[in-house]
Amino acid sequence: MTEQAAGEPDFDVIVVGAGPAGSVTATLLARQGLSVVLVERGDTPGAKNLSGGVLYGRVLDEVFPGFVDQAPVERRITRHVTTFLTADSSVAIDYAGGPLAAPVNAVTVLRARFDPWLAERAEEAGAFLMPGVRVDSLLTEPGPGASPRVVGVRAGDDELRARVVVAADGVNSFLARSIGLRPKPPEHHLAVGVKAVVGLPRRVIEDRFGVTGDEGAAHAIVGDCTLGIGGGAFLYTNTESLSIGVVLRLDDLVRSGRTAVEVFEHCLAHPGLAPYLRDGEVLEYGSHLVAEGGLGMVGQVVGDGLVVVGEAAGLTINSGLTVRGMDLAIGSAVAAARGVGEAVAAGDTSATGLAAYRRHLDESFVMQDLRTYAKAPAFLERGRMYGAYGELAAGLFHDVFSLDGSPRRHLAATAWRAVRRSPVTIGQLMSDGWAGVRAL
Ligand SMILES: Cc1cc2nc3c(=O)[nH]c(=O)nc-3n(C[C@H](O)[C@H](O)[C@H](O)COP(=O)(O)OP(=O)(O)OC[C@H]3O[C@@H](n4cnc5c(N)ncnc54)[C@H](O)[C@@H]3O)c2cc1C
Repeated sequence: MTEQAAGEPDFDVIVVGAGPAGSVTATLLARQGLSVVLVERGDTPGAKNLSGGVLYGRVLDEVFPGFVDQAPVERRITRHVTTFLTADSSVAIDYAGGPLAAPVNAVTVLRARFDPWLAERAEEAGAFLMPGVRVDSLLTEPGPGASPRVVGVRAGDDELRARVVVAADGVNSFLARSIGLRPKPPEHHLAVGVKAVVGLPRRVIEDRFGVTGDEGAAHAIVGDCTLGIGGGAFLYTNTESLSIGVVLRLDDLVRSGRTAVEVFEHCLAHPGLAPYLRDGEVLEYGSHLVAEGGLGMVGQVVGDGLVVVGEAAGLTINSGLTVRGMDLAIGSAVAAARGVGEAVAAGDTSATGLAAYRRHLDESFVMQDLRTYAKAPAFLERGRMYGAYGELAAGLFHDVFSLDGSPRRHLAATAWRAVRRSPVTIGQLMSDGWAGVRAL
């Protein structure tokens, strides 16, 4: 910013929240020469953050070329395992793909280490980091439209003023909701995540998960690990620890009458998962909401003097096979930095001027992927995904591999018998198959 004249705002931009969305937005705006303050309520960035931990990193590599060799990343994911669990069996698809390592596609991160690194990059670019400060509310003035114009933030007794406020405050989207820009998400658009980090020696992890060096594995698990509640479990390898957790659809969890912790304890003790964790030491334990509504959650992301990025804007995709939020948060940060930069340069930071952000977001992989997976949330609400299909698959493979002395049948006949014995009807199988092809 040029020298501050009387009545001028304190900063060009205030970014609230030093998660991936906030730190990358602050970095890119500071690189444009704007004066930026990055406000974070945690005493250090990442202190209050929780994520499963697989970061699809191509977009971050565009912002920080070669980041995997500099940032505190854990392992490069070269193995993806998708498992259907029943109470006593599991059926898995195991894709071990060396080509996923070069160029690096996905890495595991621990947010307590990764977020401070990202925030340091913002500082290095010239942004001013303000940790340990919780923004209580937006400062507003009557604006040109129906909504008030945002002119800054209030934290305790302090007020900070800026041309633009970037709400990067995560899933609760408290700031955008406070001026009516975003509605409170319905329960079926939210999930509860419970996660533990379990310490194990490096060698044990590599032996148990079939990886070597800095390679890692990501397991996505559905079925009995969530006691049939919509959602799933994840198990990711870090360098010397595992990240294990469950993500449970809030409405389904409430209906079940169980608590998220109870389901998580069941998951940790499940015979399909417990052997991976044996002799491990719980290092961290936490719980966090996660947006699950996909495209249906993305509403207004621009107001007068305000833009909303990352999970605060509802940008997450759960395709059943992959959970993505961090890469979309970073993608929205790239779009926001372009849009805000253009608006400030043009001297118009009203909703009209900031609409450039929405255009860049619409053109980016973020909205393209959200549109591709628009039907995924409704598809994943089908309860059969979390019980019946696991039983069907386990029944089929039991019959294939169990030679009990009865005459053998061809695979098609065995499959037909497994379907007839399972809780799934042929009609449901066809309907789910067709819906799945279109949704995923
Ligand atoms: C259990 C679980 C598993 C997940 N697994 C994955 C995964 O494997 N891969 C993936 O890509 N995504 C995953 N996600 C989603 C991912 O964590 C989020 O989408 C991502 O963190 C969003 O980034 P963000 O920067 O928008 O928000 P956040 O990371 O939530 O950051 C928001 C920041 O704002 C700060 N803040 C909030 N309010 C205020 C305030 N009033 N004042 C100051 N600071 C404030 C917070 O402290 C925080 O630092 C998972 C989420 C959960 C809960």
